[in-house]
Amino acid sequence: MQPYLEKLLFVKKNYYLCKLYNFRNLLIKMAKQSINRCSFCGRPKSETELLIEGQEAYICNFCIEQAHEIVESEIGMSLKTDSEFSTTFNYKPVDIKKFLDQYVIGQEQAKKTLAVAVYNHYKRLNQKVKSDDVEVEKSNILLIGETGTGKTLLAKTIARLLNVPFTIVDATVLTEAGYVGEDVESLLTRLLQACDYNVKLAERGIVFIDEIDKIARKGDNPSITRDVSGEGVQQGLLKILEGSIVNVPPNGGRKHPEQKMIQVNTKNILFICGGAFVGLDRKIAKRLNTEVVGFNTIRQGGKLQQDNMLQYVTPQDVKAFGMIPEIIGRLPIITYLNPLNRDALRRILVEPRNSIIKQYVKLFEMEDCKLEFEPQVFDFVVDKALEFKLGARGLRGICETIMLDVMFELPSQKLDRFIVTLDYAKKKLENIDFASLRA
Ligand code: ADP
Repeated sequence: MQPYLEKLLFVKKNYYLCKLYNFRNLLIKMAKQSINRCSFCGRPKSETELLIEGQEAYICNFCIEQAHEIVESEIGMSLKTDSEFSTTFNYKPVDIKKFLDQYVIGQEQAKKTLAVAVYNHYKRLNQKVKSDDVEVEKSNILLIGETGTGKTLLAKTIARLLNVPFTIVDATVLTEAGYVGEDVESLLTRLLQACDYNVKLAERGIVFIDEIDKIARKGDNPSITRDVSGEGVQQGLLKILEGSIVNVPPNGGRKHPEQKMIQVNTKNILFICGGAFVGLDRKIAKRLNTEVVGFNTIRQGGKLQQDNMLQYVTPQDVKAFGMIPEIIGRLPIITYLNPLNRDALRRILVEPRNSIIKQYVKLFEMEDCKLEFEPQVFDFVVDKALEFKLGARGLRGICETIMLDVMFELPSQKLDRFIVTLDYAKKKLENIDFASLRA
């Protein structure tokens, strides 16, 4: 019985081998027939930009692109390798500042500090650390300046240059675990969402935490009771800022035990925190006054520059404001923004690469209309913004009010030229409630 079975198996095996061989030949024949055709979509070579030949098959550029998309979405990660990431950063601090100059007016010190910090951050990412090497530490940044002076704009512009995922989170929505509000981990949810949950990309992104001053501890002394909105949140932020593996709820909000968490390593995420720190300038002035009497430390030419006290900010001042020392330690770079004066506001209106005025000119150009402004209109708009304390954010509101009627009529009128004169602007702003333009 045994030899008979063996023989049968031998015949069966050969039978299948023959079948396989024939099938292979058939495939080769088909492939040969379809030479100069994509083996996936059947497009002839003439309809493709590129047809790549493989072993007995062809693939066109369209199918390569589609396959790339499928792989990316299926695997959930970029096809970029770490070495590819590292070669893509070619900017020197001077280049970074030049780029920022195109979009952000003034704020020289903040731009310089940011440029150096970002440059060092990426140098650190590309560092191949050997065990005995000096490890460059993460350089998260704290931007201090009045609201509307360009903190968010700076962070956004940096992210645009680096082409990395970027998100803005408001620190005021974060609360300590167990209380109503969002867990601190949810700020990474936004970053993940900004890059379609591509964890690898998110791990090299930038998070801008706005209104960080709102989670300051109330009062200089550590509280004995629980401080829901302040110290607890700062404690929660510590490990995220520092660099650790964090379990992130994919949909944000509170952590639910049943929700599948995504692990994100924050080691290479750059955190830029911004805050107005209202009242900090007075604290600094007070400190400096006592120091001036004592040691004459930070004086230039024997005189303090009174226009912006924030330029003398030290980590101790930020601590006195109510930020815990551990947080300050994880934001080693502190810089300040200047309040915007008349000259800065006027420049903001016309100079940035995508200034408000340039945007209107572009919109009109799309309607084949040449838009011009009398220069006095710019001064008038700035005057109004200053008079009603609207800041840079108010400039757009004022311009929108001036331009509304002409933009309403232009598409039907087909004008080939329009000049916004001072009289026209004044007329459009008559009887306007400027308070409503406050952002
Ligand atoms: P902040 O984050 O400091 O509150 P933003 O960066 O959001 O302020 O600024 C609000 C808007 O004002 C920006 O979108 C931009 O149009 C304008 N703006 C403010 N500061 C500047 C600046 N220095 N240069 C150019 N535009 C500015």
